[in-house]
Amino acid sequence: MVYLKTEDEIDALRSANLLVSITLAELARVIEPGVTTKQLDTLAEQVIRDHGAVPTFKGFPNPYGPPFPASICTSVNETVVHGIPSDSVVLKEGDIISVDCGTLLNGFCGDSCYTFRVGEVSPQVLRLLDVTKASLYNGIEKAIVGKRLGDIGHAIQTHCERAGFGVVREFVGHGIGHEMHEDPQVPNYGKQGSGMALSNGLCIAIEPMITMGDPSIRMRPDRWTADTQDGKPAAHFEHTIAIHDGKAELLSTFEEIEKIEEKKYGKTSCD
Ligand code: MG
Ligand code: MG
Repeated sequence: MVYLKTEDEIDALRSANLLVSITLAELARVIEPGVTTKQLDTLAEQVIRDHGAVPTFKGFPNPYGPPFPASICTSVNETVVHGIPSDSVVLKEGDIISVDCGTLLNGFCGDSCYTFRVGEVSPQVLRLLDVTKASLYNGIEKAIVGKRLGDIGHAIQTHCERAGFGVVREFVGHGIGHEMHEDPQVPNYGKQGSGMALSNGLCIAIEPMITMGDPSIRMRPDRWTADTQDGKPAAHFEHTIAIHDGKAELLSTFEEIEKIEEKKYGKTSCD
């Protein structure tokens, strides 16, 4: 069942998503070699709770194992999604880390993810980040009245596959509202003109998960962490958007993160 949102509900979703963006920007300031993913988790939880919200990921149920134990997912290098923060995972120069963050604020959810560089990364890895992020915006461009769900997935898929990268099939974007995961599912692949027609009030998280090599994944015994089978790196960027006045409105933002990254690394990205 797809719930279209009212203006008031979109306002509430905007606040929850803004808080996710604030949290990710706080993490951007401290991500550097030597930092543990557990330290990032502690900081994220503090920022979220200081703003009167709850980290939606903490205690998130898993039908195959224990609930998620932390406030953010920290997925390093070959981990595609759902990496568990740990004292033993120490970031090092050349790593990439995707941080997926969710909030529940005044009964509405925020959900956004950014893949950060740790120091200087190889040109191939930088290209993976650029292509994945660009594919997210290509997908968002199609999230307008008059298009269909398949147009979003098609835009993401063609952009990434043309670059020689893999599109993960096991995880998809989703509707978002009172629940973090609502209908419809929003795959990162698809056929033009197929699937549900997009309409005003539709609020969805679009989140390409893209691999440098083969898109096959394998699950770790912890029943959360999904790694690429070939051990090559993966990137993940996610925005929550609302379709509003016929167009996509971003409810989350990377603006502050990108300012911080530019200060750290200069303008090395091709977007
Ligand atoms: Mg997410
Ligand atoms: Mg999501």
